[in-house]
Amino acid sequence: MPRGDEHGRALTGDASTEPQGVFAHRAVEGFEQLAFCNDAATGLQAIIGIHSTVLGPALGGTRFRAYATEADAVADVCRLARGMTYKHAVSGLDCGGGKAVILGDPRTLRSEPLLRSYARFIDGLAGRYLTAEDVGTTQADMDLIRRETPYVTGVSESLGGSGDPSPATAWGVLAALRTVGRRVWGSPSLSDRHIVVVGVGKVGRSLVEHLLDEGARVTVADVDPVAIETVVKEHGVATVEPADAHALECDVLSPCALGGVLNARTIPELRCSAVCGSANNQLETPADGQRLADRGVLFAPDYVVSAGGVINIAEERAGLGYDRARAWARIGGIEATLGTVFDRAEADRVAENRIEAMAGVRRIRTSRPEPMA
Ligand code: NAD
Repeated sequence: MPRGDEHGRALTGDASTEPQGVFAHRAVEGFEQLAFCNDAATGLQAIIGIHSTVLGPALGGTRFRAYATEADAVADVCRLARGMTYKHAVSGLDCGGGKAVILGDPRTLRSEPLLRSYARFIDGLAGRYLTAEDVGTTQADMDLIRRETPYVTGVSESLGGSGDPSPATAWGVLAALRTVGRRVWGSPSLSDRHIVVVGVGKVGRSLVEHLLDEGARVTVADVDPVAIETVVKEHGVATVEPADAHALECDVLSPCALGGVLNARTIPELRCSAVCGSANNQLETPADGQRLADRGVLFAPDYVVSAGGVINIAEERAGLGYDRARAWARIGGIEATLGTVFDRAEADRVAENRIEAMAGVRRIRTSRPEPMA
């Protein structure tokens, strides 16, 4: 007899193993909605993950990437969307957490019909999900999506948007680095500090410019030789192999590529005083926060550090007309937010990532404002 739940829904998988059905998938736990978007005519396969709309519409970028398996794509979109819920909560924004992935290599699959088809799927969610740029998508993609739906942020300033959020994100990382400096060396100055930036894409490259302006010594790493060549040509900075970057002796390691880089293998090899970068979900598991604390490495939690982009988008959506100076001033608030996280972590003697997570959970539980239109 087939197994089923009390609502008559089939449960797949063997009773002796974990259930295999989508609703029982650990990554999906607590999610409001997952939308699978399929359009054979354009080759579109996308997954939109809406983790929470408690604080407002689910905001989060679209990642365009080839995944080894569909299960990997589901796991990635869920991990990232969940992270956005907490990022918005700790940053005081009235947005929920969402994220989307388009499955495939953007270099070969990207086309106008595919992106417009994807945009119509977003439109069908009627504002429950707002998209933005992420790894593999560009501002030009957002402008194209805007032609089909209003539920897209970070479109060009000429279309009334705030543009690519990456410079705003980099500005926020710089603010966070000042707080790190104050905490570790008693001064916000980054002059003569050695900072290793891993990933010199949209955020990392902009961060390198700020760091050099501040008088820091910068070493960069990237798996893309073109990205490295561009930054070296522009700024003459030193380079390190990506596989060795985390172990280079420096003041601050700044992960600005992909997530999961701080784990049981890499943490024992770190030779830095602090980690502070834009990459989402830098800790492979929450326990890695404690591993860093045990090694005496200060961790600036990524939900706080990388919030510049979404704070910028919130300014765009505030209905006052986007004003860069106002947005930049608000992003500067990351300096104080991170200071509060460090103070509480020290007072409570727990790892920084736990303080940040608790602050996020508290806000989600205690505030339920009306979602923004
Ligand atoms: P991007 O795709 O423009 O740049 C990422 C760079 O990392 C690329 O140059 C890529 O070649 C490099 N890279 C990939 N794997 C690497 C590895 N193993 N080692 C070294 N380099 C590697 O992306 P981005 O927009 O600059 O975002 C960087 C990170 O910051 C991502 O984790 C993203 O989710 C996060 N983030 C970005 C924003 C934003 O506004 N763009 C906002 C918040 C968080």
